[in-house]
Amino acid sequence: MTSGIRFDAVSVAYGGTTVLDRLDLTVEPGEVMALLGPSGSGKTTALRAVAGFVRPAAGRVLIGDRDVTGLPPYKRGIGMVVQQYALFPHLRVEANVAFGLKARKTPKGEIPGRVAEALEMTGMVAYAHRYPRELSGGQQQRVAIARALAIRPEVLLLDEPLSALDARLRSGMLAELARLHRELPEVSILYVTHDQVEALTLADRVAVMDRARLQDCGTPQDLYRRPRTEFTASFVGNANLLPVTVGTGGVAFGETQLKVATDGVAPGAGATLCVRPHLVGLGDGPNALRGRIAEVQWRGSTHRLYVEVDGHRVKADVRELRETPPLGAEVTLHFAPDDAVLLGAGVSDG
Ligand code: ADP
Repeated sequence: MTSGIRFDAVSVAYGGTTVLDRLDLTVEPGEVMALLGPSGSGKTTALRAVAGFVRPAAGRVLIGDRDVTGLPPYKRGIGMVVQQYALFPHLRVEANVAFGLKARKTPKGEIPGRVAEALEMTGMVAYAHRYPRELSGGQQQRVAIARALAIRPEVLLLDEPLSALDARLRSGMLAELARLHRELPEVSILYVTHDQVEALTLADRVAVMDRARLQDCGTPQDLYRRPRTEFTASFVGNANLLPVTVGTGGVAFGETQLKVATDGVAPGAGATLCVRPHLVGLGDGPNALRGRIAEVQWRGSTHRLYVEVDGHRVKADVRELRETPPLGAEVTLHFAPDDAVLLGAGVSDG
């Protein structure tokens, strides 16, 4: 019983405003897909369309090869965990976990075993008789996860499940979720987050959303190394986005000629060159950029240099710098041709 999720041109509108615009996306069976984007970009709406809490204005949602667009939530075979835990305060942990099983009319004799199994998976067996108010935030979220797992869902929907936890708990829970996924390799997981660390750590692939649209989708490594849009480049990791003019075999950045792959982009076009700050080195080399230090930030293991080159600030994260260069000092930066990505011609640099 393995089944993925498919969004087939799904649109959702509230009062005439489109908040999800023709989303096409497939989550493969057993895959973890993160929906990553800023607040208000439509991530939760997409997840709720899979859960059945939002009715699309157009398009279809499929789980496996079943069209579930018109099905009520409880018939979709999904488990869902939201940010605020949403446990029943008057029910003990075990009753909270049993809740979905009872609602789905699971045979009575099966329920205790399924509850125990879910509590086991989330490390909450010892807390079965407690009330939610007797648990920490992290423990409550484990119960919420146990409740979602108890129904043995084909699809697990997680909506910012860690954002109510403090930083230390969050990284522990992130590791827990990765372990759960290894234990349940057949379950497809859709994971909504605005936090790139969560998305990059947990997801097999990341779907980047902005303003109701899917902007980009790929493995974390793809999106980081080969972003397709300026939005992805700056939302997934840090980026220098340099306005350039395309030539043959390279680009012009102001007066400076740079050697980078320009495959398929017509000479003369305006484009944006993306270079990650940690791939920019200090000193002479290929693709040298000369400028003056405008600002320096010491970040423990690196120095972040802001260098004014032809009226643009270029960021370089430099390791093992013995001395902090003084403001105004003339320096040369460089980067390898392979470490730069040319983003679509005609993209504005605003
Ligand atoms: P995200 O999860 O990316 O933060 P949402 O999917 O929650 O974004 O919201 C997308 C847009 O839809 C936002 O502008 C939000 O205000 C709007 N929205 C969400 N739910 C409703 C609703 N029930 N009624 C009206 N507008 C809504």
